[in-house]
Amino acid sequence: MRIDIISIFPDYFAPLELSLIGKARAAGLLDMQVHDLRAWTYDRHSTVDDTPYGGGPGMVMKPGPWGEALDEVVGDRPARLIVPSPSGRPFRQADAERLAEQEHLVFGCGRYEGIDSRVAEEAARRMPVEEISIGDYVLNGGESATLVMVEAVTRLLPGVLGNRESHVQDSFASGGMEHLVEGPVYTKPAEWRGHEVPPVLLSGNHGAVDRWRRDQALRKTLRNRPELLESAPEETFDARDREV
Ligand code: SAM
Repeated sequence: MRIDIISIFPDYFAPLELSLIGKARAAGLLDMQVHDLRAWTYDRHSTVDDTPYGGGPGMVMKPGPWGEALDEVVGDRPARLIVPSPSGRPFRQADAERLAEQEHLVFGCGRYEGIDSRVAEEAARRMPVEEISIGDYVLNGGESATLVMVEAVTRLLPGVLGNRESHVQDSFASGGMEHLVEGPVYTKPAEWRGHEVPPVLLSGNHGAVDRWRRDQALRKTLRNRPELLESAPEETFDARDREV
């Protein structure tokens, strides 16, 4: 997969050198480039913002540098533009799974009051454009939202996680966990400060462990995210699930 990120704060993406994503890049599983939007400005102050038409507080990112940046970064290759925005569609695990299938993602990080709307309009003439929100709160810029989405997407790429199975059992994962969060997890020692690991996990009975995990996932979802269960289709649950 190829990922391009355009931002006025390229240094913000230093963490993408670390951990699993850093290793995936070093192994050639992921080609990621970060671009400084100011490279496409021509005035002495490298200006990327201006006052909003219609008045009001704050500044808006000018279309000129964005247009040129996208022309150069995308070129003629097929790509999908992701514009982080609190007014976008909510980002879900299903979106991470969908975006992980793409060959080329470009993230355009807004600052100030956002990017002049004509940039997305113009880009949509030649590539799919998605405005995506990572939650119902307002950040200072699209950089942290991009870090979140890049991590959620790239951990799903083949070869990035050590154990291919680990994301299949994660909260929200398609293939059984769509409407559930994962239950509690434990490691050695079996007894710590008087707290014991649930005995079923030490039983070696894989069927019983799977059932216990599903029960715990249902209980935790009911406790923390009841709306996920309410919106789940009937066939999501078997008879035993309904007892929980
Ligand atoms: N005036 C905008 C509004 O109320 O919708 C908020 C602009 S915000 C201060 C600046 C930038 O931060 C946005 O253009 C976007 O790139 C990013 N941003 C802020 N909150 C976000 C969120 N919840 N999800 C994704 N991006 C966000």
